[in-house]
Amino acid sequence: MTDALFIGAHPDDVEILAGGTVARMARTGRRVVIADATRGEMGTRGTPAERAVEAADAARILGVERVNLDLPDGRIAEDVPGAVRRVVETLRALRPRVVFVHEFGDHHPDHNALAQAVRFACFQSNVLKYDTGQERFRPSRLFHYVGSRQRWPNRPDFVVDITDVWSTKLEALRAHRSQLANPDYQGPETYVSSDLAWHMIEMRAGFFGGLINVRYAEGFTADAPLRIDDPMGLAEA
Ligand SMILES: [Zn+2]
Repeated sequence: MTDALFIGAHPDDVEILAGGTVARMARTGRRVVIADATRGEMGTRGTPAERAVEAADAARILGVERVNLDLPDGRIAEDVPGAVRRVVETLRALRPRVVFVHEFGDHHPDHNALAQAVRFACFQSNVLKYDTGQERFRPSRLFHYVGSRQRWPNRPDFVVDITDVWSTKLEALRAHRSQLANPDYQGPETYVSSDLAWHMIEMRAGFFGGLINVRYAEGFTADAPLRIDDPMGLAEA
């Protein structure tokens, strides 16, 4: 049984969008697994072999396990049923209580297609006659990262304070040596490898932090209303 499964299309997506939440959950003893849908083989910088080493290093820094679903980078949308099947197999193997994935309408086609595939898979995984040779399983919640950069952000349904694990998130990001801003890596420039992109990651965390009066946070939406038994639990101490 896994507590939380964080799914991202490319090997650095989860760190960028939810690395602090991952680190925080792992630190409190939760079993957290990151699933990268692809090996990032279409990336402008870095080879699949380099990226696998970087992803493993980042997982070690965050204190979590990591798996790869081996879907085709840049072409997830071309075979959504195939992606659904891989995700169902993963859900039934890991049995996560909550699942996180990209938001619908994300600017990157892989992110958007993966969000659709994971939503289908969370349903199909519990269908007895959807046969993968495994026991059926239904995660109890599906959450989405709020991270699209080219439009007004979705209003988060909840925001996680990551101030205490901010340095861990940055360290995990730096482990992606071929991808993010890194003067020591020789390769063609991309937006993600620019100083501006790094700045945007910090700014987004600061923006979400500002919503709950802390320095850094990450925002998420939920697929259905969040159950709260005692509203007093939400009152500030
Ligand atoms: Zn991505």
